[in-house]
Amino acid sequence: MSDTTLEIRNLHARIAGGETILRGVDLVVPRGEVHALMGPNGSGKSTLAKIIAGDPAYEVTDGEILLEGEDVLALEPDERARAGLYLAFQYPVEVPGVSIANFLRLALNARRDEDDEIGVMEFYQKLQRAVAALDWDESILERNLHEGFSGGEKKRSEILQLLVLEPKYAILDETDSGLDVDALKVVAKGVNAARGPEFGALLITHYQRLLNYIVPDRVHVMVQGRVVTEGPKELAMELDQKGYDWVREQVGA
Ligand code: ADP
Ligand code: MG
Repeated sequence: MSDTTLEIRNLHARIAGGETILRGVDLVVPRGEVHALMGPNGSGKSTLAKIIAGDPAYEVTDGEILLEGEDVLALEPDERARAGLYLAFQYPVEVPGVSIANFLRLALNARRDEDDEIGVMEFYQKLQRAVAALDWDESILERNLHEGFSGGEKKRSEILQLLVLEPKYAILDETDSGLDVDALKVVAKGVNAARGPEFGALLITHYQRLLNYIVPDRVHVMVQGRVVTEGPKELAMELDQKGYDWVREQVGA
């Protein structure tokens, strides 16, 4: 049987040369499913996302991350992207002087073989479909990446990238933070448009709000650097109503 999962196995990690943050994270996201990772502030959710992306600020001391059997930790950050991982962050960067359209074309071609650059027509059709899925105006494509973008526009741009780049797995960290409900709906629309048998996602979120619009196939709960429980989508609502102390009590954390 071929392995079509993103698997995090017994992952321990610390701030480089410092404090331990992750204490044995176990988590599996099968391709074709959208999972949520919830947990109180400071539990290590963003640290996990940054380690998956290859942030050198952290040191993995034990465990592994396997992308369909491939050892992610042995890959450089750009190789991780080419292997099919997409990371959206809490604070997206600005790239002055590079339009969204050009950025996306470069990023797409970087993921393909040198003699297999995407055709102009194919590229623009992909872009148009993605822009339409997000109810966005095509003029956005000529603007410089994230330059002068509002928080909501940056998020929309990240989701646009996701739709165009078509990664195997996406990790979206706190995509609901600071978004008004309209922007949240647009983000959800994009993620839901990406949903399908070829796409897996891990949505990292503190609150249940985003999950009103993106119904997860499964929910994992992180407390103090470990996934302490997981369950169906109803778990997210339960957490929203009862708070995290209830989980802490259940697991004795
Ligand atoms: P979450 O995203 O679940 O809120 P984080 O992963 O951001 O949690 O943080 C987990 C803990 O690790 C927090 O106590 C945070 O202060 C600490 N931490 C994470 N990264 C660093 C860092 N680079 N330097 C110092 N402390 C950090
Ligand atoms: Mg965080």
